Amino acid sequence: MSSATESSSSNGAASPDETPDINLPAPEAKPAAKPAPDKFDFDLFVIGTGPGGEGAAMQAAKGGLRVGVAERYRQIGGGCTHWGTIPSKALRYAVTSTMKSLKNPVMREMGFAASPSMEQLNRGTQAIIGRQVTMRQSFYDRNSVPISRGQARFVDEHTITIDNGELITAAAFVISTGSRPYRPKGVDFSHPRIFDSDTILEMKDKPTSITVYGAGVIGTEYASMFRNLGIKVNLINTRDKLLEFLDDEIIDALSYHLRDQGVIIRHNETMESIEGLDDGVILRLKSGKVLKTDVFLWANGRQGNTDDLGLKNLPIEANSRGQIVVDEHFQTCLPHIYAVGDVIGIPSLASAAYTQGRAAGMHLLGRVDGNLRLNDIPTGIYTSPEISSVGSTERELTERCVPYEVGQAQFRSLARAQITGETTGMLKLLFHRETKEILGVHCFGANASEIIHIGQAIMNQPGRQNTIDYFIETTFNYPTMAEAYRVAALNGLNRLF
Ligand SMILES: Cc1cc2nc3c(=O)[nH]c(=O)nc-3n(C[C@H](O)[C@H](O)[C@H](O)COP(=O)(O)OP(=O)(O)OC[C@H]3O[C@@H](n4cnc5c(N)ncnc54)[C@H](O)[C@@H]3O)c2cc1C
Repeated sequence: MSSATESSSSNGAASPDETPDINLPAPEAKPAAKPAPDKFDFDLFVIGTGPGGEGAAMQAAKGGLRVGVAERYRQIGGGCTHWGTIPSKALRYAVTSTMKSLKNPVMREMGFAASPSMEQLNRGTQAIIGRQVTMRQSFYDRNSVPISRGQARFVDEHTITIDNGELITAAAFVISTGSRPYRPKGVDFSHPRIFDSDTILEMKDKPTSITVYGAGVIGTEYASMFRNLGIKVNLINTRDKLLEFLDDEIIDALSYHLRDQGVIIRHNETMESIEGLDDGVILRLKSGKVLKTDVFLWANGRQGNTDDLGLKNLPIEANSRGQIVVDEHFQTCLPHIYAVGDVIGIPSLASAAYTQGRAAGMHLLGRVDGNLRLNDIPTGIYTSPEISSVGSTERELTERCVPYEVGQAQFRSLARAQITGETTGMLKLLFHRETKEILGVHCFGANASEIIHIGQAIMNQPGRQNTIDYFIETTFNYPTMAEAYRVAALNGLNRLF
């Protein structure tokens, strides 16, 4: 879901320990809380070690503040590292690379016709998680940020307890406690065939069929991944379109390709009941439909981790989804307590959480956070085909009456795609028909989440430097997928008159 693309070092962000100590303009905003060495144990205390907490902790530590963090899970890294982004993307890689090899005609000719087990596919994941944890631990160690192990709860506005017995005071706090799957009453999540996105990776046996309830980013990614494994998939959408925040053409392409691969998508459905049996799970829908599959994945909504945080001792309230309201500086109603990441709701991405954490750290240091492009969060969706976008959609531009034009490049017309065989996909540029300013970049197909960043970089250039002309005047390596930008720009220019 946005979209953090995995880099070698993190959730999609730069290695936090490499966070540059940027020379920012003179402070505009006042620090929310002045460091008070004598009065408090820490200048900043961060709750949670996911990307949000790590971004805040490293930024503040590099700015010279005395920072401490709390983590209740046995290892650092957050849901991102242990049950969200990293394991799901590691499994996706294992599935796609294994299935690709098994479908290779040469392998078939040699008699390879194996069916990998879930255990085999998941085997590499723990090693990747281990490497992530070791690397992230070194960031905390090198920046002298101590980690208190246990559940943190507020006692008052400047004090927390950790359930290992520690009592800690701090001038400021960042709440980065993440989120978990929302679990509706009446669904028995202890049943061995009923999963949510936190437990699905523990599934031991490969099912022959699965129903995924909820067609948001997580549900759609898992539906796509299971289908790639040859499993029969029902994808139940409570809305009338898949991922309606995307450009309509991309939504249509995703729906087409998922259906083409064999995923049965049902829109506008609502659950009536879910019944776990010894030999499967029955989903009854309010529309009267009844579906039975081997296993069931609930992927409908998330809940902020605020219920056991001692918020009752503060004037900060969480909404019905456990999310905390913040202002543009990520400050809660108490200016010295910030909240970042999934606990504040959308976009609920590792990439965004990390940037938000850094922004909170900078604000606390009294620096302007204007150099962080907080509103320029790309979307990366790791379905098959992969999807990524940044900027406005056609729907948004039409609603705003912006005179835009479209330039497209089909992957099948690119030499690189023909060589790799990854010909499914398209790059679409939306640009202002008078100024040629790029307004949106939308892509689906192999490596879309990487390809998008070329367009994002140009879109972020100031004034006249952001135009599609860049792609026409620039020589691209050949053959590359980047060439799609030149093809799309020329295609768009040809529409102008
Ligand atoms: C299946 C799945 C796939 C995903 N794929 C992607 C993707 O491809 N790209 C992307 O950008 N995002 C993806 N995400 C979303 C991403 O994982 C989250 O947006 C990100 O982890 C949020 O970071 P965070 O720092 O807010 O919280 P988290 O990473 O959840 O970290 C919160 C931490 O706080 C700790 N904690 C909570 N309460 C307390 C407390 N009271 N005391 C001490 N510690 C506490 C938790 O143990 C946890 O370690 C995915 C999520 C899921 C579920």
